[in-house]
Amino acid sequence: MGKNAEGLVGLPMVHNAMASRETLLVNSFVPPGPAVAELQEARATPHQSQGTVFSVCYDAVSLHESERSMTARILDGLKIRDEIFAELKDEVHLLAAAGVRPGLAAVLVGENPASQLYVKSKIAACERLGLASGLLTPPASVTTRELLAVVDDLNHDNNVDGILVQLPLPRQVDTKRILEAVDPSKDVDGFHPVNLGRLVSGRPGLVACTPAGALEILRRSNIPMEGANAVVLGRSDIVGKPMALLLMHANATVTICHSKTRDLPELVRRADIVVAAMGKPAFVEAHWIKPGAAVIDVGTNTIKDPAEAEQLLRNFPERLEKFRAKGSVLVGDVHPDAVSTAGALTPVPGGVGPMTITMLMGNTVKAARLRRASPAISTSQSTASAR
Ligand code: NAP
Repeated sequence: MGKNAEGLVGLPMVHNAMASRETLLVNSFVPPGPAVAELQEARATPHQSQGTVFSVCYDAVSLHESERSMTARILDGLKIRDEIFAELKDEVHLLAAAGVRPGLAAVLVGENPASQLYVKSKIAACERLGLASGLLTPPASVTTRELLAVVDDLNHDNNVDGILVQLPLPRQVDTKRILEAVDPSKDVDGFHPVNLGRLVSGRPGLVACTPAGALEILRRSNIPMEGANAVVLGRSDIVGKPMALLLMHANATVTICHSKTRDLPELVRRADIVVAAMGKPAFVEAHWIKPGAAVIDVGTNTIKDPAEAEQLLRNFPERLEKFRAKGSVLVGDVHPDAVSTAGALTPVPGGVGPMTITMLMGNTVKAARLRRASPAISTSQSTASAR
């Protein structure tokens, strides 16, 4: 590790053939200023995350007068994020007292503005928590072999507890090979087959951040999971499948739905817990939701068509006003009107969105604790990183 980002975010960069180029990019990439400002800057701006397009959602949906009469309890991801950050800060202090500063290294290939914004938000979150962070920015022309060498360097760097390879990678790069090259003990995205296998078998490991965040919302909102009928809409490797496994381990009875599922509305109607992760705007209609059910809306879809926005938000005049001013609005996979049928519901934005980076921070602290801290450092089981 060597030159460049030292003093900027606390974790020096891996020294490799691309280091000097990275130095320049890193220094221009993360401007000085309070981490919170960084987070605010990123709010509600569409970007590419791990394989999907979504937004950094730091604004909770504010409810208009007429919306307050609607029944669902709003499960506020921002509030839960702040709660978890406070717990993580305590844990970071404990680790610091033992001489350990958790460190996250992000690998950002090329100059995709959306990916840049997302990585920037992750680095800002590290700053906010006092974690070390580093950024490697190989050019878009990087080969699989070169990227494997970057990952290998990070695997062998003891100051790096978490390695995050920002997706998507360029076409010429074998994404699976890169993700499988990450040391499973540093796989803070939870994408490595070893960590997926641990999740399947219910052993401790690093769990994918978005589903882990969704489960944390349910848990901290005291939504009963044991014995509940849960329906997960979507079966992707990064959201749907791990979500279903987490719910199953929480003793819910889980049904996984996908594009070939028959009678979707009927299955949703039976669910006490619905997790929607399809990437289909407002697909789940309000009348499909069993009255009182808990709805976790993972979907983040940007609507730009005025007619569609007017139709979807006809009962949300304040949001419609914002759409008219801005020209776009974020909606989930669940119709906004579900607020009148669900018992509890995550808003979009401001629900699951803020939890993804939060759980990434939790995974980084957890990886540091497991890799480097002495067993004497015990953590409260109530912290997000303890799970
Ligand atoms: P994905 O890889 O595209 O998977 C979509 C899943 O939905 C697939 O399993 C697909 O079924 C299923 N599906 C599509 N149409 C369906 C239909 N009509 N009925 C039932 N199932 C259907 O998406 P993803 O990466 O899991 O992301 C899902 C959503 O979550 C997206 O909106 C994404 O932006 C959002 N997301 C948000 C965050 C966050 O932090 N808030 C993070 C990640 C993702 P098949 O398998 O049969 O194709």
